[in-house]
Amino acid sequence: MRLILLGPPGAGKGTQAQRLVETHGIPQLSTGDMLRAAVKAGTDVGKRAKAVMDAGELVSDAIVNAIVAERIDEPDCAKGFILDGYPRTLVQADAVAKLLAERGLDLDVVIEFVVDDKAMVDRIINRAEQAKAAGQPVRKDDNAEVFDERLREYYKKTAPLIGYYYAKGKLKGVDGMADIESVTQQIEALLAKTARKKVTADS
Ligand code: AMP
Repeated sequence: MRLILLGPPGAGKGTQAQRLVETHGIPQLSTGDMLRAAVKAGTDVGKRAKAVMDAGELVSDAIVNAIVAERIDEPDCAKGFILDGYPRTLVQADAVAKLLAERGLDLDVVIEFVVDDKAMVDRIINRAEQAKAAGQPVRKDDNAEVFDERLREYYKKTAPLIGYYYAKGKLKGVDGMADIESVTQQIEALLAKTARKKVTADS
């Protein structure tokens, strides 16, 4: 199963991705996590990405596409993967299509988290407070000022993917404002439906 989680920052993609990892045994490929790891490790990619990430802007397509291309050839991705926070631009979406086509694979579904933006800033600030309370590092971009820029980037560069995947017949929506458990249930229902359609189409 290969799926994309699409939605603005704070929509709950990461939380749901972790649940999908546990339930379906496929890895979560979060470009945000991979970039943060690169920053922490001080690699060339990390050095180039840091200032851009801190400002809430998008890292270049070339960098992110290269990271994902390498990652999906690892053995744990053989049975599928969850793309979380990738693709975020039309160039990245074309890169995913090409990567999959070259491997004779296809996407099963793109899940859009439909949310109220105003509530997202509160979620992000909560996330920062919770991390701080738990003694975990707080993300530098989890604050109200940078959040505005992240949201602008989302609408400018990522929201066009909604139309892109709708036109391909891959887009399904979930109510991202619902509680965590019920979002999980909505996603599982969608995945079951997609799997049934696939069986019918293959037979
Ligand atoms: P996230 O953890 O998904 O919220 O990503 C945190 C930051 O990493 C973003 O604000 C971007 O600066 C960068 N980033 C993550 N994924 C991508 C991507 N697919 N394309 C460009 N930049 C990305």
